[in-house]
Amino acid sequence: MIEERVLEKWKVLIEACKAYYIDSQPTGMLDSEFDELEIRAAKEDGFYVRDYVFQTYAKGTRAQNSYIEKFKKIKVTDRSMLDTMKSLEMENGVNYYYNLKYDGTSLALYLDPKTGKPLRIVTVGNLNLSSQGIDQTWKLMNFVPSRFPKGIAAIQMEAVIDTTRLSEIDPQRARQKANGLINSKYCDAEINNLLTLRAYRYYCDDSIEGNKIKTTDYREVLRSFQTIISGVDGHVLFAPAEVWTLEELLTRPGYTETTMTVTRDGTFLNDGWVIYNDKGICQGALKFSGAGEESEKVKTVVQSIQWNSQLSKGKDSWSANVLINPVIINGCTVRKPSAGSVSKLIRMNITPGAEVNVILANSTIPMIGDVYKEGNGDYQWPTCSCGYTMSGKDIFGSLLKCGNPLCSERIGRMKAYLGELLNIGDLDLNKFLVIDRMKWEMTNVDYTVLFKAVENMDTETYYNHLRSFLTTDLQRRNLDLVWEASFKCLRDLYEGV
Ligand SMILES: [Zn+2]
Repeated sequence: MIEERVLEKWKVLIEACKAYYIDSQPTGMLDSEFDELEIRAAKEDGFYVRDYVFQTYAKGTRAQNSYIEKFKKIKVTDRSMLDTMKSLEMENGVNYYYNLKYDGTSLALYLDPKTGKPLRIVTVGNLNLSSQGIDQTWKLMNFVPSRFPKGIAAIQMEAVIDTTRLSEIDPQRARQKANGLINSKYCDAEINNLLTLRAYRYYCDDSIEGNKIKTTDYREVLRSFQTIISGVDGHVLFAPAEVWTLEELLTRPGYTETTMTVTRDGTFLNDGWVIYNDKGICQGALKFSGAGEESEKVKTVVQSIQWNSQLSKGKDSWSANVLINPVIINGCTVRKPSAGSVSKLIRMNITPGAEVNVILANSTIPMIGDVYKEGNGDYQWPTCSCGYTMSGKDIFGSLLKCGNPLCSERIGRMKAYLGELLNIGDLDLNKFLVIDRMKWEMTNVDYTVLFKAVENMDTETYYNHLRSFLTTDLQRRNLDLVWEASFKCLRDLYEGV
C-alpha cells in the first residue's frame, strides 16, 4: 500500500502522468519537468508514478487496437520451406526479409510518435472478432525501452518464453505458459523471470519522421530498437526480432527444419516465418503445416463428442472436441483433441468406439489424424440454448450451425456486435452476418437501401439486396439462415429497443 502522504505529495505528477498515458491529454508541464519529477518521486519516496497510474487506471481495461493488421498465412511443409521462399522471390522478382513467426502471445505497444515514448501495451486477440485488447501496460511497461525512434505509432511484439528457462515443464508448453502469464493478474515474479518480448513489426504515422522510417530499410529500423536486459537475472526482456534474407537462410538451413529455434537472445518456439519487404510492409507468413510428424501419431479410442458453441468467439458455428482415452504426446496429456472439421467428423464417423490416432497439427494443436475403425454413429448432436437440437441437416460446408433462424444466441451475438459500433455507418457485414466463404466488399453494398428497408419494414428488399451479392449455394443457404435475425436486430436498433 502506498501511503496517503505520498499520494498527496505527488498529486500533480500523478495527474500529469494519468493525462499523458491514460487519457492522451496535455499534461500541463514540459516533458523535461515530468521526467525530473518522476525521478524525484522514485528517489525520495520509492514511488513509481507510472506503475501506480497503470495499476490504478489501466489494469484490466479494454483498449482499441488501431493500426494492428492481420497477415495472410500460407501453409507449407517444413521440408519445402526454403523452396517456397525461393519461388516467392522468383515469382515477384523481389528479395524479402524473413523473421521467425514466434509462437507466443501477440501484443501491441503504442507510442507517442512525437516523442517516441511508450504509452500503452495491449494484447492483440482475435482480429476477426473485434479489435479490442486488454491493457497490460501495468505488467509489461518496464520490459520495453524508454524511447523509440520518432514517427512510430505502434509496434507489434510477441511475448515468448525462452524454453531453456522452463525447467519444470515441457518446453513445448512455452506458448501456453506465455499466454497464461500475459492473461494473469498476479504471478508478477514469474512474469519477470520468464517472459521475453520480441518486436517484429512497426506502424508509422504521417509526420516527416514517420515518412522517413517508412522509406528506411526494415532491418535497420528494427536494429535501432534498444535491447533491454533484466537487471535481476540477465535474461532478455525486450529485443527486436532477428531478420534474415533468403541468402542468409540458405547458408544456415538448420533454421527451417525445426519449430524450436536458437537465436542470439534465447531459444524460442516458432511455427514458421513472416515475410517483409525492405520497407517493413508485411507480405504474409509461411506456416509449417505439420507434415513430417509421423512419429508423433498415437493410437487411442473415442469415448464421446463434446460440442462447443463458437458464438462467443464471434463465429456463428459449433466446433467439436473428441473425448478420448488419454494419450501422452510430447510430454503433454491429451484428453480432447479437435476433430479437425465437423465435416471430417461426419465423413470418417468419428463417434464413440472409433479407433483413431492423435497428431499435433501445426506442431501444437492436438487433432484426430487417421481413423482405423469407425465408431457407433452416434454424433451426440448438441442442443443450442435457444432449444434447437442440431443434426446432420445443419452442416454448412464444414461447419455446424444452429438451424433456428431466430436463435437467441445468434441474435445476442449480432446485438453485441451492433452495440460495439460507435456509428452504424461502420457496420461490417463480414462481422455482422458471419457467412463463411463470403467476403463482403463494403464498397459494393448500398447501405442506404438496407437501412431504408429496415425503416420501412421491407424485408423483401433487404433480403434481395443482400442476396444479389452471393454467388454460391452455400452462401445462399447461410443467408437464408441468418438474414431474419439480422433484420430483427437492425429493426430493434432503429426502434431504440
Ligand atoms: Zn440456437
